[in-house]
Amino acid sequence: MTERRASILLVEDDERTRQAVASNLEAKGYGVRAAADGEEALVLWELRRPDLILLDLGLPGIDGIGVLRRVRRDATTPVIVLSARGEERDKVEALDEGADDYLAKPFGMAEMHARVRAALRRTLASEIDPSGVLQIGNLRLDPDRRLVTVDDAEVRLTPREYELLKVLLANAGRVVTRGRLLRAVWGTAYAEEGHYLHVYIGQIRRKLAAADRKGTLADLFAAEPGVGYRVRAVS
Ligand code: CA
Repeated sequence: MTERRASILLVEDDERTRQAVASNLEAKGYGVRAAADGEEALVLWELRRPDLILLDLGLPGIDGIGVLRRVRRDATTPVIVLSARGEERDKVEALDEGADDYLAKPFGMAEMHARVRAALRRTLASEIDPSGVLQIGNLRLDPDRRLVTVDDAEVRLTPREYELLKVLLANAGRVVTRGRLLRAVWGTAYAEEGHYLHVYIGQIRRKLAAADRKGTLADLFAAEPGVGYRVRAVS
């Protein structure tokens, strides 16, 4: 049996970008459908149900956020938004609304392929361990026992540190916005207190580093300036 090639819906109103991105994806073996505006995107979405969506935010008519909301009403299909300079607020809003990742224009094709591959891989791997255990490299978080270990040695975290790590690990590979992290860990009243995150992530980082003799977790947390944080895959 041959593996079905992944299908991608590309939504981009700029014709040159659309053609360049589409031909690059096709050259890598993806099946690509392209839409030039939000209405066309939603028609193709209904017809094709692609494996992944590359979604420009600034579109005539129904904009990228509108398309994303419609898609998220009934599917968890990975969505990578394409944002132009000056669309930082829209980018954060899109991530809050459930986009998986973003690419800031102009982006290189190598970076785009890496993000697409990672998003598709996460979908395939998302049959989560039924025990709920979250594991990245030598780091393990067991929610039933509220236990965090590195190489089987316990790492003692405060309740807030634990919750923060849990949200990030549950979304490994994805950007999680500061607003989402703050709401999840501190509650809605704290959604603007971005400096908390910097402090708490620093504490978690130090505690993990103390237990991580091989140093494999040193780059676990990536800050996404102006957006939030992402837990990186560790090999
Ligand atoms: Ca555009």
